[in-house]
Amino acid sequence: MKKLFLLPILILISTLTLAQDSLLSYQPKVLLVTAHPDDDALFSATVFKTTKLLNGKVDLALMTNGEGGYTYSTLGNYIYNKELDKEEIGRQYLPGIRKQELMAGGEIVGIRNYFFLDQPDFYYTEDVEETLDKWNKDWVHERMVQILEEGNYDFMFLMLPFENFHGHHKASAVLALRAMKELPKEERPIVLQGFIRRGDDPGVSFTEMEGYPDTKVMKGEIFEFDRSQTFGANDRLNYNIISNWVIAEHKSQGTMQLLMQTGEKVVEQYWYNEINGTNGLEKAAEFFEAVNAVQP
Ligand SMILES: [Zn+2]
Repeated sequence: MKKLFLLPILILISTLTLAQDSLLSYQPKVLLVTAHPDDDALFSATVFKTTKLLNGKVDLALMTNGEGGYTYSTLGNYIYNKELDKEEIGRQYLPGIRKQELMAGGEIVGIRNYFFLDQPDFYYTEDVEETLDKWNKDWVHERMVQILEEGNYDFMFLMLPFENFHGHHKASAVLALRAMKELPKEERPIVLQGFIRRGDDPGVSFTEMEGYPDTKVMKGEIFEFDRSQTFGANDRLNYNIISNWVIAEHKSQGTMQLLMQTGEKVVEQYWYNEINGTNGLEKAAEFFEAVNAVQP
């Protein structure tokens, strides 16, 4: 009988100890799924807070080999001493170079594991069907199922597949969702589709990608983290610093670099998919409360 009386006291003590370590009572595990080797910059501040401040783990599954990035590699030519902006040379060297750049950025935000799916980054298209036709989608499916089964993730972050977005981004979300459905419901991560909004602009509007009902988001359920949140001495620092650092690692590239920000409000948005049901809402809300509240 005595042991039974002790139990509540022990639980109380362990809860207090955890509360001192972290704002969450567990270590969140996240799988981030992207198409190109710099897409992860969109998620960078939330990933940083998750790994470095909330004691979580974030793994990255990358769909393409990034070879199509030769288009804007002109300045990268001078960094790597190769004519990377010439298609033939870019397609030969960029898969290796961009993996190195990705991992240098990943080091900053604390990415744990990388899963390279190495599908062709053929050219810009908004056509998801064309992308799925050109990729080895059956192999990607098997590999994604394996990654999800082994990872036991709490959350899966995908790219929001809105209409005027790259077909590779859309296909990465489609294939990740397709793989997730192979898992029993109770073992699935909570799916959130991410994008960015700036300043007072409400950002993109999105309900679902036509023909792909699993991409449908739950009305009004968007979780946000504003990178311009300040901290540090005299509140001079903010989380745009983290995304700028990540973007700066991609020296073979040249257009995302133009999106670097200093003090401007840049908000990472995470849209909650209907496929999660309402059961995951509380866990997702608690996670983003912690992401917003935790500070270095
Ligand atoms: Zn991309």
